[in-house]
Formats: sequence, C-alpha cells, structure tokens
Amino acid sequence: MIFEKSLMIDTSSNFQIIDITSEIVAILNEISKEKRISSGIVNVFTKHSTSAIRINENEKGLLNDFEKVLKDIVKENDNYRHDFIDNNAASHIRAFLLGSSETIPIIDGSLSLGTWQSIFFIELDGPRRNRIINLTFIVE
Ligand code: ZN
Repeated sequence: MIFEKSLMIDTSSNFQIIDITSEIVAILNEISKEKRISSGIVNVFTKHSTSAIRINENEKGLLNDFEKVLKDIVKENDNYRHDFIDNNAASHIRAFLLGSSETIPIIDGSLSLGTWQSIFFIELDGPRRNRIINLTFIVE
C-alpha cells in the first residue's frame, strides 16, 4: 500500500533546524489505526530548493555546530551569479549540499530510527510560511 501525506511548516528565522520526528510518528500512527502496518519505508521529501531534510542527533550544541560548519563552507556572499536574479544563492547551495529527502525503514509498524536519530527539516532561507514536506509511505 502507498499512502501520500504531507506536513506544512511555518519557520521563524533565516536558518532553522526543526525536529519533525514526532509529527511523522503521529501520521504513521494515524495510518496504523486504519490499516495494520507491518513493514515498509517512508520517504520524507521537502518541496523547496532552499530547505533540506536530514537525519541526525537532536543535541543543542550539535545543531549550532551544523549551522556553523554550513556557514563556514558556504559563505553568505561570494559574487554568486544567482544573487543577481534572486538574492539567496547561499541558501540554494547549502540545500544542494544537504539533500532534499531521507528514507526511513518501518519495522513492526514503527519508524526504525536509531536511539540518537531524529528527522530534521532545515530551513535555509526563512522565515517562510507553508513549507511543504511530502511523506510517501510504502508499506505492507
Ligand atoms: Zn533563489
């Protein structure tokens, strides 16, 4: 079975790492109420080219470290060509390095994440309203 769901997110700052694990678990639990799910996968995909989806540990210091490294690697202004038509090249380049999706196994009806793994939506050009994340559950 395939279930297509989506999450809508409003962000409040230019750079923001948002843990969306509990929202995805809640949607999986909703699906489980209707249909018994044993195993499969869920793909979590952002519809925006200045945002990203990544899995890592939700530790405050580490989240600051991710921001620092991304901003060290991709400077805010570097005579980027895209800035001549749309002043957000650094946001696109950071998103390009991170990636737009993650796929997570589902085992015995639950997301099979490691103990220290969380699923993050990363806002790279906020604040924005109505950021859309598509969830595609392929399950049996
Ligand atoms: Zn742009």
